[in-house]
Amino acid sequence: KLFEDCGFPSPLMGAIAKQAYEKPTTIQCQALPIVLSGRDIIGIAKTGSGKTAAFVLPMIVHIMDQPEVDKGQGPIGVICAPTRELAHQIYLEAKKFSKPYGLRVAAVYGGVSKLDQFRELKAGCEIVVATPGRLIDLLKMKALTMTRATYLVLDEADRMFDLGFEPQIRSIVGQIRPDRQTLLFSATMPYKVERLAREILSDPLRVTV
Ligand code: AMP
Repeated sequence: KLFEDCGFPSPLMGAIAKQAYEKPTTIQCQALPIVLSGRDIIGIAKTGSGKTAAFVLPMIVHIMDQPEVDKGQGPIGVICAPTRELAHQIYLEAKKFSKPYGLRVAAVYGGVSKLDQFRELKAGCEIVVATPGRLIDLLKMKALTMTRATYLVLDEADRMFDLGFEPQIRSIVGQIRPDRQTLLFSATMPYKVERLAREILSDPLRVTV
């Protein structure tokens, strides 16, 4: 299977070529067609599998499909990750692939200035990559609204639960319209994660690598 088979628009193919990604990884082969079709997905995969591109590439397509992408302020794509290190990695990947479209990517996590993040979000973004606690803080400060959000990714869901983020995740999900597309990635599927998946995903397909 090749990236060419995914029907990506040419600016995105250009960005993929720049990364020298020769062909999709196993998780990408399995997940890309599902996510591009608009379905919800549970991806059981670890770091190193290429899962980030599996949710970032279809997110760019999803965002560019929105008729008023150039008119709003709040994020269309929302990605939650357990740690600032992972959030930063995802941010870099999202930046690379959104560059040809000039989409604004905001990274929001603890340990750095909340005021700077507040200002960045206020200025508007199409994509936000966040740790749950900091995103909740900024939502409470009305730095952003989720009214435009239609694509939600929970990455490393099991680790987010281990770190005690379940209430924050539920609060974030509750602020995003129910007809969104939802993607949940996790290395393992303990009962609590399985239960959340049942509650917040619509008729998901499951892929395991
Ligand atoms: P991830 O599992 O998303 O953290 O990705 C692990 C590493 O694989 C990252 O450095 C990615 O840039 C890289 N990667 C992702 N997709 C591909 C691909 N299709 N071909 C080669 N490298 C890739």
